[in-house]
Amino acid sequence: MSTYLRSPIEFVRGDGVRVWDSDGNEYLDFFAGLSVSNLGHCHPEIVAAIREQAGLLAGSSNLFYSEPALRLSERLSETSIGGRVFLCNTGTEASECAIKIARKHAHRRGVDRPEVVSLDGGFHGRTIGALSATPRLANEELFGPLPAGFRGVPRDDAEALRGAIGPNTAAVMIEPVQGEAGIFPIADAVLRAAREACDEHGALLIFDEVQAGMGRTGTLWAYEQTGVTPDVMTAAKALGGGLPVGAVVARGEADVLEPGDHGSTFAGGPIAARAALKALELAGDPELLASVREQGERLATGLAALDGVDSVRSRGLMAALVLADGIEAAAVRDAALSNGLVTNVPGPSTIRLLPPLTITAADVDEALDKLGRAIAAGR
Ligand SMILES: *Cc1c(COP(=O)(O)O)cnc(C)c1O
Repeated sequence: MSTYLRSPIEFVRGDGVRVWDSDGNEYLDFFAGLSVSNLGHCHPEIVAAIREQAGLLAGSSNLFYSEPALRLSERLSETSIGGRVFLCNTGTEASECAIKIARKHAHRRGVDRPEVVSLDGGFHGRTIGALSATPRLANEELFGPLPAGFRGVPRDDAEALRGAIGPNTAAVMIEPVQGEAGIFPIADAVLRAAREACDEHGALLIFDEVQAGMGRTGTLWAYEQTGVTPDVMTAAKALGGGLPVGAVVARGEADVLEPGDHGSTFAGGPIAARAALKALELAGDPELLASVREQGERLATGLAALDGVDSVRSRGLMAALVLADGIEAAAVRDAALSNGLVTNVPGPSTIRLLPPLTITAADVDEALDKLGRAIAAGR
């Protein structure tokens, strides 16, 4: 189905921060499969883990124990907010699970009509539940009737958020750095307001770390830099090291799911779990995280100095540049692609960069040069 607007290029091979197309052209990949290949393409240790597990046991069932899934869950819990873990296959499924947790938790407190509050610009996925928590895309005319129990509030307004949280609130669901919207870090004051109001009313705070997690912002999880700890955290994208893996971590009172409440056939399958375990181990390396912060600074500074760039928003290696009036982002992206640089366009005048976390200063400089020339060509 024609659900994607595709560039007329087929990538056939990747190695580290580079990919090659079917004509043999080489590209510096500053999109990383939408923040999936955070450790670079075909990281040898991830490839080895996948290969080994594929020859041992490819599929299992969640009705039996599986060491890779248990180890992954344990490590996820230990390296994030603590608590218990549900494994799934995608980010949108992680959102669905988080919404079910929030609703069950609310019903336990005697809330009849629980509501999930989310921020404008946030993205939580495309299934009907996750979509309903994504105000920008929750189009009633196209996909209605959408389920009741969701409410969107402005992104940067702590008072509006406080006002929207009350006795019926099951949860507030926030993407701490909004990725799909074009890299908008949520102000700490808004996150603190959410935490306080949730505590006051007994609601859960959910952070969607599907895009911002796994080292992308310079700490393993984005929440670590905010001073606010959620009750529930979701992860996916880079978590699988290239394979489809999602996860939900729920701590304390949020640990409500019991046998029969939720499940998924492929979730936590041995191959995906082995890949994720390795990816999580590699992404947590303090040296790598320090490099993300350092190269992130270099990238942001370099972008801001480019001709034709109006402003830059970034955290770690999640960056967006807003082009000056009259420059089309799509034209710049296409010119960059011709120069051998893969980027992405989340809005008409915005370019998004999500390079592998393993990039060097030389890679950043090369990307800045290619992008600078692409902007000049796109004018
Ligand atoms: C991509 C994304 C999702 C959805 O993940 P899928 O794996 O595409 O289902 C959810 N939340 C955020 C923040 C994302 O970036």
